[in-house]
Amino acid sequence: MAINVIVVENKEEGGQKGYGVFKAVKELGGKVFGLATGSTPLTTYEAICNSDLDFSDSISINLDEYVGLGANDPQSYHYFMQKNLFDKKPFKHSYLPNGLAKDIEQEAIRYDDIIMQNPVDLQILGIGRNGHIGFNEPGTSFDSLTHEVKLTESTVEANARFFKDKADVPRYAISMGIASIMKAKSILLEAYGQDKAQAIKDTLEGPISTDCPASVLQKHPSVTIIVDKEAVSMLSEKTLKNM
Ligand code: PGA
Repeated sequence: MAINVIVVENKEEGGQKGYGVFKAVKELGGKVFGLATGSTPLTTYEAICNSDLDFSDSISINLDEYVGLGANDPQSYHYFMQKNLFDKKPFKHSYLPNGLAKDIEQEAIRYDDIIMQNPVDLQILGIGRNGHIGFNEPGTSFDSLTHEVKLTESTVEANARFFKDKADVPRYAISMGIASIMKAKSILLEAYGQDKAQAIKDTLEGPISTDCPASVLQKHPSVTIIVDKEAVSMLSEKTLKNM
């Protein structure tokens, strides 16, 4: 299998492995890191924060942001990144989509321009239960660039745990598109727990189809997937043997 799959006992071990991937990319001279929010990358960020890795000469470009939330809003992805990574590990420059932009279409163009000017060396990804990457839900074109997304009900449900009330979850986001993500020179996807087992099966074994956005990764030349035992529990014997 072209995708390098690393099975770990738990997300703490996954975080150590994730940190190792960042370290290796840095050692090879990588300076641009595509970052993600959500609970999945937290152990990797924690391992990075506890390390001596220095990003003061590096650039970060985040996948997405909620429309309507500013950097100071505790629910924004800006705020999440500040708290979980940037406070301890500042980058020379950190880009995130501006959720308060008046013209979201213009903001999307600006963001793709940033990605073009700063080719991403390593993009870290989580995966949704439905196989989404970034906020690219099933059905999103593989040619998509950064764009405004209306969140599906299942994503609103999944993200409601971070909000006081489900009604507070923003209904729109601005997200790198699938083509924007695929431009990264290497990609690290992490997935933990039974909830992600079907999405991981579809990603690795399914047809390459917009029904499972992450299945597009089968076409990328350099992908590492870090998963725990629950997340690989639906894979076939054949896939497991080839890993
Ligand atoms: P999670 O979200 O890391 O909070 O599970 C991942 C995603 O929806 O992309």
